[in-house]
Amino acid sequence: MRTITHWIGGKPVAGGTSTSPVWNPATGQQQAEVPLASTEEVDTAVRTAAAAFEQWSQSSLSARAKVLFRFRELVNGRAQELAEIVADEHGKVVSDALGEVQRGLEVVEFACGIPSLLKGDYSDQVSSGVDVFSFREPLGVCVGITPFNFPVMVPMWMHPVAIACGNTFVLKPSERDPSASMLIAELWAEAGLPDGVFNVVHGDKIAVDALLDHEAVAAVSFVGSTPIARYIHQRASATGKRVQALGGAKNHAVVLPDASLDFAADHLVSAAFGSAGERCMAISAAVAVGSAGDELLARVSEKARAVKVGPGRDPASEMGPVITAAARDRIVGLIGTGAEQGADLAVDGRGLTVPGHDGGFFVGPTVIDRVRPEMDVYREEIFGPVLAVVRADSVDEAIALINANPYGNGTAIFTSSGEAARRFQRGVHVGMIGINVPIPVPMAYYSFGGWKDSLFGDKHVHGPEGVSFYTRAKVVTSRWPQTVERSASGTSIGAEASGSSFHFPTSN
Ligand code: NAD
Repeated sequence: MRTITHWIGGKPVAGGTSTSPVWNPATGQQQAEVPLASTEEVDTAVRTAAAAFEQWSQSSLSARAKVLFRFRELVNGRAQELAEIVADEHGKVVSDALGEVQRGLEVVEFACGIPSLLKGDYSDQVSSGVDVFSFREPLGVCVGITPFNFPVMVPMWMHPVAIACGNTFVLKPSERDPSASMLIAELWAEAGLPDGVFNVVHGDKIAVDALLDHEAVAAVSFVGSTPIARYIHQRASATGKRVQALGGAKNHAVVLPDASLDFAADHLVSAAFGSAGERCMAISAAVAVGSAGDELLARVSEKARAVKVGPGRDPASEMGPVITAAARDRIVGLIGTGAEQGADLAVDGRGLTVPGHDGGFFVGPTVIDRVRPEMDVYREEIFGPVLAVVRADSVDEAIALINANPYGNGTAIFTSSGEAARRFQRGVHVGMIGINVPIPVPMAYYSFGGWKDSLFGDKHVHGPEGVSFYTRAKVVTSRWPQTVERSASGTSIGAEASGSSFHFPTSN
């Protein structure tokens, strides 16, 4: 059995006796065990990162950018290997995992521009002889706590930006697919990042709580489910840390009758069933407006039945298994509640088997029609390959439905009407919006984040808000009064007059 280690101070560090199994979701077999860090192991990682901060925070912008560029090349060169590690532990197909590596790399590329991103402001002569300028400094030890569904990309929303800003980092990846983070740690070291700047500790609630409570941790970035995001935000804020905690989602795609229904159906199927629906930006609710309903359902159902489900390593597979047997059982149970509560099971993915992979955690693509907001399949974030179809009479009814939902991560509209699209983009209470684009994940130079129960804290990740999150500003007001006589030409110029004044400083 392969045993995974932590990564502390630039090298692998064996964990203690508490461990958790890492499964291969395509076979249902255990393939490794991962240590679950104790409070003491977490303390060692944080103290190592705190010690490394002393020097890394003083490194020049060009020195940091050079490491970032080298890291970018190394990740790019190992992208296939990273994708295969992800496919083996997460279950998603390799081509999808390559896409995740690519989107993570785009954040590294954004962070390569750190010399420009950290440029401050300068105002000359704000008052007579007085100038003002600002610059931003790193925070200290920053922590990332990340979910299972993007084991490369989501941590890369965080650590390249935090490190480029001059912070040091402790990553606590998901214990369900931890191996990609170990290769990333090796690549940082190979890129020349000093020991202790990037560390990985594996673990569960014990490790997370130790990070949240640690006095030397300055900031916490979390991505995961909403109940844990809310908890992380409250507990880390209570100890004075800066926190951004991204939570779960229920992303709606609205399809208007004037849309190309075949185009919409293709994109709905990809967005609902890609990565077995285990994406925070997956479309899990389709809102079919007016006459679009029946034809859309027919096309989506036909395409759902055609999805090739199989192991992530098989190039013929379009969709892999879900992460664990428990996740499969929960999804299957929720599909059952849909039928019990009066929805129509147009395509039922329960009971799907993949030849040669009988033990794998597979659920087939599922389409549930005539779902109503009070049903469990609508209220719960299913996080599996299940698309709920809700019928609505107008775009305004669709907007109201989306706004009544507690989540506000992503949403999309399919239409050929600019007027309807504009009404939608202005009306929905959602952070990321697609117009004829089903998964509107912003590019790395914009920031990613939802609204409402999809994000706790005020800063979104990466892009300008990421740089802002990982730094704090100093504003300097400076004056250089003439206090000495000039002697070069022998001419004597008197020192500037000084004198006390007791009114609040104003410009002159
Ligand atoms: P999760 O909340 O179970 O776990 C996330 C992290 O929190 C993991 O590192 C885990 O070890 C840790 N954790 C779990 N339980 C904990 C507890 N009780 N106390 C402290 N820490 C705990 O999420 P997951 O199942 O790994 O990931 C799926 C979820 O993540 C979905 O809800 C999905 O929508 C969400 N997600 C959101 C985004 C986003 O950008 N908003 C992106 C990806 C995933």
